[in-house]
Amino acid sequence: MSLLVISPGKDPEAWVKALKEQHPGLNIYVYPEDHDKEEVEFALTWKHPRGIFKNYPNLKVIASMGAGVDHITSDEELPENIKITKVVDDRLEEDMGTFVLSLILAHQRNLLHYRESQLNEKWEPVPYTRNNQIKVGILGIGNLGQRVAHKLLQNDFQVIGFSRNKKEIENVESFAGEDELDEFLEQSNILVNMLPLTPNTEKILDKELFEKLPKGAYLINVARGEHLVEQDLLAKVDDGHLSGAALDVFWEEPIRDEHPFWKHPKIRVTPHIASVTHPKSVVPQIIENYERLQDREPLKNEVKRDIGY
Ligand code: NDP
Repeated sequence: MSLLVISPGKDPEAWVKALKEQHPGLNIYVYPEDHDKEEVEFALTWKHPRGIFKNYPNLKVIASMGAGVDHITSDEELPENIKITKVVDDRLEEDMGTFVLSLILAHQRNLLHYRESQLNEKWEPVPYTRNNQIKVGILGIGNLGQRVAHKLLQNDFQVIGFSRNKKEIENVESFAGEDELDEFLEQSNILVNMLPLTPNTEKILDKELFEKLPKGAYLINVARGEHLVEQDLLAKVDDGHLSGAALDVFWEEPIRDEHPFWKHPKIRVTPHIASVTHPKSVVPQIIENYERLQDREPLKNEVKRDIGY
């Protein structure tokens, strides 16, 4: 049995090094080097070439190198019986927590405005709202979202969360299911999107949703670009309903030259860096699942293929 690393979207070197350190006896192939496809039962991947997995007759598990699995599930030629796993990692959660907290603090204390003023050599104080007066709605309060909630609570923000199933999280009011979405949105002064990308969540951040947010609400999208209808966001920021947005993920990465987001005074763009997977931190759970597969034990962090995350 061999493990195939297939990651045209990421440099495989650090992954291979960490895998070898953790499991010196492991037989590793790195795509596209020559390898025996029949030997491969486990693949570790990020943005594989579409349709490739059907060429591996004995492949049983595809492990994502990150928390998102949409780069795997969106492959229409994915063989049905293959299991998919995702990353659940303390470091990834911590980094997401601190990044979203930074964006929220920067917004709430008007740091973008002061940078603009500085560049224009203007002394322009503006009022600010204190943390405990701001309610942050976390759309998709799963592993990463709960860490974000924790960081925000530590900083006196009010936090509410939306998910498919009701949650019990201390000091976080939980909303679940379509019926409770409007009530959740109506209260979210800042909306943080942390949903996985699935057929149910694609283009969820649209005009209709934005109009349900309170006037002056702020959007943070750190999940996937495909959640957002970009033209709807521009329209709602430009008509003043939304006060702005911080976007870390995009339909096309990097965004094209001349994209209206680049120079928009109320839109902050970061290059998909909210939380970056660290191979050394993640490899132990990959090896654990590789061994679980060999021992025919249930895998950890397995994705439910029918719901897509
Ligand atoms: P989880 O699976 O732990 O959490 C997803 C949450 O979304 C769950 O609470 C789930 O509800 C909820 N959810 C899913 N579908 C729906 C729906 N249709 N309606 C309402 N709620 C829904 O994922 P993670 O927290 O680990 O990761 C979230 C996403 O963050 C990843 O998929 C990835 O796209 C993105 N990401 C971005 C990074 C970046 O650097 N920008 C880095 C890492 C991840 P329930 O709990 O009820 O199942």
